[in-house]
Amino acid sequence: MRATCWMGRNTVEVENVPDPRLLNERDAIVRVTSTAICGSDLHLYDGYVPTMKKGDILGHEFMGEVVEVGKGVTNLREGDRVVVPFPIACGACNACAREQYSLCENSNPNARLAEKLFGFPTAGIFGYSHLTGGFAGGQAEYVRVPFADVGPLKIENDLPDEVLLFLTDVFPTGFMGAELCDIQPGDVVAVWGAGPVGQFAAASARLLGAERVIVIDRFEYRLDVAERQGSETLNYERVDGVPEALKELTGGRGPDACIDAVGLEAHFHGPAYAYDRVKQALRQETERPIALREAIMSVRSGGTVSIMGVYGGLMDKFPIGAVMNRGLTIRSGQCHVHRYLRPLLQRIEDGEIDPSFIVTHRMKLSDAPKGYELFKHKQDDCLKVVLSP
Ligand code: NAD
Ligand code: ZN
Ligand code: ZN
Repeated sequence: MRATCWMGRNTVEVENVPDPRLLNERDAIVRVTSTAICGSDLHLYDGYVPTMKKGDILGHEFMGEVVEVGKGVTNLREGDRVVVPFPIACGACNACAREQYSLCENSNPNARLAEKLFGFPTAGIFGYSHLTGGFAGGQAEYVRVPFADVGPLKIENDLPDEVLLFLTDVFPTGFMGAELCDIQPGDVVAVWGAGPVGQFAAASARLLGAERVIVIDRFEYRLDVAERQGSETLNYERVDGVPEALKELTGGRGPDACIDAVGLEAHFHGPAYAYDRVKQALRQETERPIALREAIMSVRSGGTVSIMGVYGGLMDKFPIGAVMNRGLTIRSGQCHVHRYLRPLLQRIEDGEIDPSFIVTHRMKLSDAPKGYELFKHKQDDCLKVVLSP
């Protein structure tokens, strides 16, 4: 089959690779009909996630048709149309019992590696380095889906792929980001990053009752999308300090909750950014945590900072004094996608949201290298690339 392979920093190639086979009774093989490139893939592309190997198959946002199931999968059949969550979860361990699927204790065969870096292991993830299991991803014609009796959601409507595809990751991720803010009526929520995750965090904050949502980025075309969806916007290149601008917009108090939908590759200007860039380049810190620091400094006292942007290890200059003295709550996580699949599908079917508003580019799988470049450099007003094999 054809698959998008990581070939080194800033290089992906669509290669011929062996077709996946059932390895366990609870596996299924899915023929991919649509797959997308995620901001998380950019962290791999840019070489910031350790343990990638040349030839690794990328992709964790995919849906398609079941073509084969193992004996242990009784809830799916050949021909079923499914959406597959990006974390791999067994459905039976302590974490899964708590619906914390991205922390599944049984799905990461390289748990030892993750344990070293994070203290405890995390779940397996499709196409996301050997730290999360080294599973082949879904930017391919076919994928092996482990624990297929737990993850995939069978689709029984005839909505198009691009309306459903984002249930695999960015819609639930944005939703969880907003849910962690414990939004109360009248709340103001600020969102750093107007990428797909930020767009869904903003939309979800509104669904959950926020009165005002303010989205921060530097790309006007992305801010325009947020504005059309009902958010206020702030271009961080056009203000003197984001925390100051947010204070101004909120009567001096600051937003009730702040969502970081940027992660470890934040961009900025000035000496503080130069400091992080140099330290990250020298591998003396893993992050450029500009958005996270700003979120902490901006949120009202007693408020919540929800971190959905991905971080890899250790950051410098973490404002712990602000967190402690102002009684802030920090919440975070890789999304527990399984938990959100049905409720969010329901919201789509009820017409509350049409997630396809983020799609700007539709390409063939063979154009994946071009898709990565466009999305990385935010060229041609790119917000989300969907690939079809
Ligand atoms: P993206 O690259 O499309 O969007 C990131 C946006 O952040 C860009 O528009 C960029 O201009 C903006 N940005 C950069 N620096 C900024 C700053 N200082 N202030 C404000 N905005 C800034 O990526 P995406 O697909 O939206 O993903 C965003 C993040 O979410 C990534 O880190 C990704 O890995 C992460 N993610 C996490 C999960 C999860 O489960 N927690 C799931 C999916 C994605
Ligand atoms: Zn993703
Ligand atoms: Zn589990």
